[in-house]
Order: sequence, then C-alpha cells, then structure tokens
Amino acid sequence: NHGLGGWPARRALMTPDRTAFLFAGTAVSYAEFARRSTRAAHRLRASGVGPGDRVAYLGPNHLAFVETMFAAHQLGAIFVPLNFRLAAPEVDYLLSHSGAAVLVYAPECADTARALQHRPAHVVALTGPAAGEQDYETWLAAGDEEPIDVEVGLDDTALILYTSGTTGRPKGAMLTHGNLVWNTYNLLAGVDVASDDVTLITAPLFHVAALDQTLLPTFLKGACSVIEPGWNVDACYDRIEQHGITWMFGVTTMFADLAASPRWADADLSSLRIVMSGGAAIPESLIRTYQERGLVFCQGYGMTETAPGATFLEAGESLRKVGSAGVPVFFTEVRVVRPDGTDVEPGEPGEVLVKGPNVSPGYWRDPGATEAAFDAGWFRSGDLAKLDEDGHLHVVDRVKDMFISGGENVYPAEVESALFEHPAVAEAAVVGVPDERWGEVGRAFVVCHQDAQLTGEELRGFLRGRLAKYKIPAHVDVVDRLPRTGSGKVQKAQLRAAPLP
Ligand code: AMP
Ligand code: MG
Repeated sequence: NHGLGGWPARRALMTPDRTAFLFAGTAVSYAEFARRSTRAAHRLRASGVGPGDRVAYLGPNHLAFVETMFAAHQLGAIFVPLNFRLAAPEVDYLLSHSGAAVLVYAPECADTARALQHRPAHVVALTGPAAGEQDYETWLAAGDEEPIDVEVGLDDTALILYTSGTTGRPKGAMLTHGNLVWNTYNLLAGVDVASDDVTLITAPLFHVAALDQTLLPTFLKGACSVIEPGWNVDACYDRIEQHGITWMFGVTTMFADLAASPRWADADLSSLRIVMSGGAAIPESLIRTYQERGLVFCQGYGMTETAPGATFLEAGESLRKVGSAGVPVFFTEVRVVRPDGTDVEPGEPGEVLVKGPNVSPGYWRDPGATEAAFDAGWFRSGDLAKLDEDGHLHVVDRVKDMFISGGENVYPAEVESALFEHPAVAEAAVVGVPDERWGEVGRAFVVCHQDAQLTGEELRGFLRGRLAKYKIPAHVDVVDRLPRTGSGKVQKAQLRAAPLP
C-alpha cells in the first residue's frame, strides 16, 4: 500500500509506543492506533467496501475520524469527511452525490442523520445508534487485526472534499494519496516539524487545513496530535499548558479570541514553537500582538484543490513581509497571470495559477467543473494577487464570488438560491461585509414580490434548517430594488459599500 493506508503500520513498526493521539484525556500509541484502524478496515470490508468506494464521516473532531480515514485508505477506499455544520438537506445532497456506501456519524449530528433521505447502506453511530445502525465501538471491536494487503497507488483518490461553488451546488474536490504526500513534503520543507512535537488540532478536520497541514505531517514524523472536538478558548489554553503544545494551526478568529481572553497575559505559552495561520490574510495588528508575546506566525495561502498549500511565508518573515502570503511551496509552481494568460509584472494584479504534485486531478463526477478549473494544466485559483519584487505573493481580492466567515467559505450563489425558495422573494443578492469577530459575515438584500410583506428576521428563520448557520446572513435588508448595471447584473461592489443601518 503506497498510499496513506500504509502509514499506521509503518509508524507502529518504527515507534510503537509513542503517543499518536491524545483524545478526550486518553493517549493512544501508534501501535494501538494501527490496531484500531485495521479493525475498522476489516469491518468496512465486511460491509462490502473496496477500492474506490466512498466512506463518509459526519461529526466534530474525534479519534474515530482518523481511524475511519486510515481504515478506508487501507482498503483503497475514498474518505469523504463532511462539514458537520451543514443542514440535513445539504448533507443529503453530498451523500447521494458521493454515493457513500458507509456513513459514520457523531452524536452531535444525530438529528441530521435521522432526517436523511439518502441513507447509505451501512450507518455507524459513535454513540446511541438508532434501529438498523451499528454502535462504533462494538462495530470496531468485532474487526480483526490481520494486516490488509491492497494495491493502492499515489494516483488513487484518497479524499473527496466538498467545497461550495460559485454556481450553487457544492463540488467534490478529489485529492489523491500523492497530493497528500506531496503537500506533507511541501510543508516539511518550510516548517521544522520534530518527532517530539505536540500538535493541537482544534480547527475542523473535515477541512484540508487541519488534516493536511497539521495532522498528517505530525503523524508522518511520529509526533503527537492532541485532538479537540472544536474551538474553545479556555480548552485551548488548558491543552497548551497541560500538554506543552508546540504547534497549533488556526484561523484569524481563533487567534483573535486567544488574544482577547483574560488568560492571554498570564498563560504559560512558552512551549509554543510553531504558530500557523491560514485560510485568510492575518491582520498586522494581530501579528504584532503575538510578536510582543514572543510568538511569531508562519502563514500560508492555498485552497482545498491544492491540498492545500500553494505559498508559504516562513516564521520570522511575517513582519518584514506583512500582508504577504509568501512564496511558492517547495515542489509547486505558482504564476500570476493577466486575463490573456501572460505573466504579470511585479505589482500588477492577476489571477493565481497553481501547478504541481499537490494539485487535485479535478472534481468528483463533474467533468464540466474540472475542465473549467484548469487552463493548460494550471489550476485556476479564482484569487487575484500581486507579486512583489522579491516574488512574494500578496492576495488582493477574489475573482470568484465568495467570502470567508470565521474560516468557513460562503458562496453567495448558494445563499441566494436558498432565499429564492421563499415564495415572497423576487430578487436577492448576498455579499460579505466586514465583521469584527468573524472577519466577514453575510449581508442579504432582498426585493419582495408586490403585496408581499417580509422582515429580515422572517427570512433568517426561513433559512435555518436549509443552510448551515454560518451561511445565514447576519444582516438582511428588505429593499425596493437592487442596483444593477446596464446589462442587468447586480452591482455587488455597491452593495458591499452600502452603510449598515
Ligand atoms: P478553501 O478551498 O476552503 O481552502 O478556501 C480557499 C480560499 O481561501 C482561497 O482560494 C482564497 O480565496 C482564500 N485564502 C486562503 N488562504 C489565504 C490567504 N493567506 N490570504 C487570503 N486569502 C486566502
Ligand atoms: Mg474552494
């Protein structure tokens, strides 16, 4: 097995007694982890899962996430981690689109699991299984520990990660085992990961950042990942102090939360060696606040489709190159081009293109989207950036219609189509607006049909249950008309600039 499925056994041979994971107060050694994931693999195989089949996971961070993932990979199956914040109809679509044969879900998602129309043939609940479902620990315990030998290559698909699209329906970015291995090497070329690192995993594992930028490199080195179910400022401080966390990844909102906590001044943060931010540019004021505390950020730019690292800014460069996302990662090429495909001059904005062994081969069952995403073998990021004289990338804007709220991407097209499902809505436009806490939040402008009366609160209520909470606009303005161009296109720049009431 040349893919990730071989990793647990290799690590169990090299460092059987070292702690692979700390979860819910329990340490799991590499040997024990390899046994558990092999048991899970046998159980998946007993359910008929084989090479290329899809295994879905729905839930907050949990040891079972990692066990199920490596179990699927032992069989050459594809792991499909789903965003647990999604509403039931959204999860339904992803389960049917991926054609998942097995679903493993956490108790936090029990209501969603009950409401599913497209139930995979086999459903495993971490706790409290319903009729016809299996209980995870019982299920796993029934598996045996015989090594599984399946031919898996670096070009085989390891993950399908759904990201929403500018046209509404989510797309499933496929990442191969090779994409994940090369991203790990790209990361190791920029970050001094050590076998005695203790990495805090508190960002959601269903996103590439936490999984590929922290958990996989930590695992490859035989170091320890501390898995937290989710983001909680106090728990974060507790873990850092209890376990001597050396490495943490986060988005701006999390780092701002830490600095705003009363514990910021006195907590013992001396163990922290690698502080990594990603997903959006980190504000200079925050960089300086951390610098004063002796903590220096490293940061990167990337996207799901590049597994995710595309550029990286080493620690220590964050102040000299404020606002920069760094230079191309080691084994990957990045260009910034004009609309005609020629390279820009320094300082001139253009679209970022990425090519390299970490770049996704395309979208699951979506040849149209795959074709549109590539230009002569280069992946089109949909981001606008400039290169400075030193070749450092500065992301300036997005070509794609998207904003980021607390680290989660929101595609206005998806929110607008949910708004249109309301019978009284005639026109709708959604934009991202700045927000102190979340970076950006959604603001919807809605025109009602004649005679219809609607309030913003009613519309927000309508969206609950249809969309994940983070996608629901924080502000809804019911207006008489939307500003449009001569050709009828909504002028979103004008909406973004409209003062809040
Ligand atoms: P995702 O596919 O969810 O990983 O989101 C990728 C998108 O996040 C990119 O296409 C960018 O628009 C944005 N992004 C990621 N990293 C940065 C960064 N360092 N600075 C600005 N935007 C970023
Ligand atoms: Mg994306």
